[in-house]
Amino acid sequence: QAKLRRAGRPAPLAGQVALVTGAAGGIGRAIAGRFLAAGGAVAGLDLDPAVAGAFDGASWLGLGCDVTDAGQVGAALDAVTDTFGGLDILVLNAGIFPAAAPVAELDSELWRRVMRVNLDAAADLLREAHPLLRQAPGGGRVVVIGSKNVAAPGPGAAAYSASKAALTQLARVTALEWAADGIRVNVVHPDAVFDTGIWAGGVLEARAAHYGLSVEDYTTRNLLHTQITSADVAELALALTGPAFAKTTGAQIPIDGGNDRV
Ligand code: NAD
Repeated sequence: QAKLRRAGRPAPLAGQVALVTGAAGGIGRAIAGRFLAAGGAVAGLDLDPAVAGAFDGASWLGLGCDVTDAGQVGAALDAVTDTFGGLDILVLNAGIFPAAAPVAELDSELWRRVMRVNLDAAADLLREAHPLLRQAPGGGRVVVIGSKNVAAPGPGAAAYSASKAALTQLARVTALEWAADGIRVNVVHPDAVFDTGIWAGGVLEARAAHYGLSVEDYTTRNLLHTQITSADVAELALALTGPAFAKTTGAQIPIDGGNDRV
């Protein structure tokens, strides 16, 4: 019976190839797993070499790769096309969220690092992937993981907020330029997603305490009183590659439980 259920399950990404950056982390790993479950062949890049073993099976290719290194990215794209034969979907997810720092005390080195990972690497990967995406038979798709910070920046997050705002503009211009190639480019703006590395190691507890809230209350501060998970973001990313969003490009889609805080 379980077999029958599996056989009857729709495989919306069957025959398609996706590349997900930051695939060893919370949201990236969830997206990669969701795309695999949807029948896709998935390549995941991450600084963390453990990405290689994140999933089993011939549909998974996990590659240790620093997305800020042009040589490593070029080699990774070659490996993806050698293994899977092309590229239909690019998910720009790799990102870093440094510890809070006020503008008056900005560390220039850290500022540049945030820009290199969150912005420059995305621009470089878009350029390198374009020849592949424009050949995608059903039309290439790009999903960019932005942040709620773009619409509602928080104190202490200047570098992060600036990088994500610039990333969003990069995505919007890319959507304009690539529509003629049949490539759709959309941005997802999650509010805090607490089951991820960014919130591990006591960061979540400290932030909740800063607001004088329990972790439960802090993580559900939205209109729907719901906690946003990596799986929720993965579901939206999958939907964005499919027919429901076939006529949407250059869009920014929040996933935040509705917001009553700003
Ligand atoms: P995470 O730390 O769990 O995952 C990020 C992954 O990116 C890690 O596995 C890390 O190794 C990888 N990475 C970092 N630098 C890299 C590099 N130079 N090359 C290759 N890989 C690199 O965090 P996450 O929450 O899953 O973050 C994923 C994306 O979601 C990020 O862009 C983040 O800004 C965004 N986001 C997160 C939240 C949240 O609250 N967790 C909210 C909104 C947006």
